[in-house]
Amino acid sequence: MRKLVIPVCAAAAVAAAVMMAQSNKGKPAENHDLGYSDTPVLPGQKWKVHDVERPRPRIVTPGAKPGDPPSDAIVLFDGKDLSKWHTRKKARQGGGEAAPLWRMGNGYFETVGSSGDLVSNAKFGDAQFHIEWSAPTPPKGKSQLRGNSGILIMERYEIQVLDSWENPTYADGQAGSIYGQWPPFVNATRPPGEWQVYDIIFEAPKFEGTRVVKMANATVIHNGVVLHHKQDIIGPMAHRIVRKYEPHGAEESLALQDHGDPVRYRNIWVRPLRGYDNP
Ligand code: MG
Repeated sequence: MRKLVIPVCAAAAVAAAVMMAQSNKGKPAENHDLGYSDTPVLPGQKWKVHDVERPRPRIVTPGAKPGDPPSDAIVLFDGKDLSKWHTRKKARQGGGEAAPLWRMGNGYFETVGSSGDLVSNAKFGDAQFHIEWSAPTPPKGKSQLRGNSGILIMERYEIQVLDSWENPTYADGQAGSIYGQWPPFVNATRPPGEWQVYDIIFEAPKFEGTRVVKMANATVIHNGVVLHHKQDIIGPMAHRIVRKYEPHGAEESLALQDHGDPVRYRNIWVRPLRGYDNP
């Protein structure tokens, strides 16, 4: 029969455990799986370090593959229909009645040109946007007249959509620019005809009366490449001028710009952002 051999360090651990059990006799063992209540308050927060009272984040099931909508996303276009959208013509597009919706293709839709901007029925404030787009091929035109469209967040803050593959134009007007304000850090555009992905994290501006107390800002990721990082937006999109903020709702529609070019879109979803501690 083999002898039971307990190594010295293990024996010491056993002894320590026995002593602790004796000293805590009568006291229920404290369980800190869910946090602590005797820790310091975090600077600038109402919570303590590892606060047992702090709400635990709710569960979101990610999409099956990158780019698929997570379980809590509001899907605005899943390849089937445009029931979550309407069109709106601007003065520069002739104004007037809402034109027919954009043209549906196999799993995508595209601008008809002159049908007007496509506007979501739902409205959003702070949000994460996922949008996939594709510029027309073969390419036609140059500079701003090649594959021009745009992501008009709150119907007015434009993240430019443009065929910026071998198509020089002004820096603050190329794909991924905050149009007329900030060029993208880099040009991460794929060739026309390929699908491109924008992931945009947007914070809405805040107004007190007519005064802007917080500018809008955007983080933009294009095909996995960061183009803007929490960049303040100067005001609504404008061409050749600087436009000042004008007060608007805390939530506004997402719009896709009809600039006359047949740009395609697919897989569009939004996640409103409610910040920390909102399970
Ligand atoms: Mg545009």
